[in-house]
Amino acid sequence: MAPADGLAAVLERYEPVIGIEVHAQLRTASKMFCACASAGDDAAPNTRTCPVCLGLPGALPVLNRRAVEQVIATGLAIGATVPPATRWDRKNYVYPDLPKGYQISQYDLPLASNGSLTFDTSAGERTVRIRRAHLEEDTARLVHASLPGGRRVSLVDFDRSGMPLMEIVTEPDVRSAEEARRYAEELQRVLRYLGVSDAEMERGQMRVEANVSLRPRGTEPLGTRVEVKNMNSFRSVERAIGFEIERQAAALDAGETLRQQTRGWDDTRGLTYVMRDKEDSEDYRYFPEPDLPPLRTDAAWLDAIRAGLPELPASRRARYVRDLGLSAYDAGVLTATRETAEFFEAAVAASAGDGRPRASAKAIANWVTGELARLVNAATGTPKGRIDRTGIGPADLAALAALVEAGGVSGTSAKEALAIAFETGEAPVSVIEARGLGRIADGDAVRAVVDAVVAANPAAVADYRAGKAQAVGFLVGQAMKATGGRGDAGAVRAAILARLGATDTEGAA
Ligand code: ADP
Ligand code: MG
Ligand code: ZN
Repeated sequence: MAPADGLAAVLERYEPVIGIEVHAQLRTASKMFCACASAGDDAAPNTRTCPVCLGLPGALPVLNRRAVEQVIATGLAIGATVPPATRWDRKNYVYPDLPKGYQISQYDLPLASNGSLTFDTSAGERTVRIRRAHLEEDTARLVHASLPGGRRVSLVDFDRSGMPLMEIVTEPDVRSAEEARRYAEELQRVLRYLGVSDAEMERGQMRVEANVSLRPRGTEPLGTRVEVKNMNSFRSVERAIGFEIERQAAALDAGETLRQQTRGWDDTRGLTYVMRDKEDSEDYRYFPEPDLPPLRTDAAWLDAIRAGLPELPASRRARYVRDLGLSAYDAGVLTATRETAEFFEAAVAASAGDGRPRASAKAIANWVTGELARLVNAATGTPKGRIDRTGIGPADLAALAALVEAGGVSGTSAKEALAIAFETGEAPVSVIEARGLGRIADGDAVRAVVDAVVAANPAAVADYRAGKAQAVGFLVGQAMKATGGRGDAGAVRAAILARLGATDTEGAA
């Protein structure tokens, strides 16, 4: 079998079954059980620690209410059930990044269960069931390094120890590598809309693990699964699962029995490698955490959290297509971030005022995803690198789009004005007025240009007189050029015809 058609041939015989586990770092000011500040990326190692997150004997945990609310908000956003009461469990194991020798987590009573996430794929919309979302504490971070002289050491940074972490686990509903990537992308969007996590994969704020197995098409029982870790981007999620599907199929075809394993993804070599065999599930000796009381989630609290939820990307996408007549593609781009969606909606709302020229939603969408997005992207890493912080407000952009649609300014001049406005902080429409970038439609101004063009092109005028009507087109072109594209083509044409007519009249007199 040629490697090129390997995957297609494999998929005719085997059905991939994939379940996804995501760990997301929550966006809280302090850690999960102590008052230590959440570790920023740039903090020096071991500067945010205390007896609680260092696991010193006798230190007692105090629950971070914000972290709990963020998991509940996520649960409500994915349509999950939040139990009336939940509790904390100890997951016991020994590892250098776990100073207490146990992790406080949730076992059989997660904060949220039985939700789902719906997202777009190249094959249409898909829904994946989410089994649970629970709250746990993060471990410390191990740094493996070489000292000068070559001695290898492992260092521990406890700044991450005790950071709040949400784990979100799907049912084995995902059926392809692309679906897995799309699920993870949509989940990232939801977490960011909710403001519960920055969810940057490259920074480890969102860690995706995929459980992958194959079964012969048309059969029910699940095959032996492999858990794949260490994927640091959406692209590597898709590549790693694609690789794993082909690897497992080749093994099954060769009559091998697959082993339940944890494998790592090597992005450079483009393959997965064995990290450990996982024949028996580890025994963590879970038991209820004695240092924390069970937590009641009363209805009023849930209602308050529900009332604070923003409209989610999927709902906005559907609304833009249904109510605003946008394409699914545009709707996807506009809802990629909450600030872009809110900027767009504010611009559409600003454009609806009566009395002024109105811009269509499509025109505003084009400005938001086109020229403004280009300027914002070019400013990445600076204060203007976010659409809601450029100094150009939604109403400013709506006014510009309306002026273009009304023919008051050419598209080229409008883009120029937007770029200047982006630099200077002026309103784009003011830039057009102040710098004379608007259409030249005023009678005197147009006549002045036309006089000059007619005087400079006697040959074309003679052609016209000789009956070559198309010579007018040439003269219009010259006049438009003379205005730098700002002339109103209709007004210019009318002025040229009038001018030639006047000359004729004079000649006949
Ligand atoms: P663990 O506790 O070892 O992580 P779970 O039973 O909680 O295992 O499942 C973890 C993830 O693996 C879930 O997303 C689940 O849907 C998925 N999963 C379970 N069995 C399979 C399988 N045979 N093939 C693919 N995914 C699976
Ligand atoms: Mg697992
Ligand atoms: Zn601490």
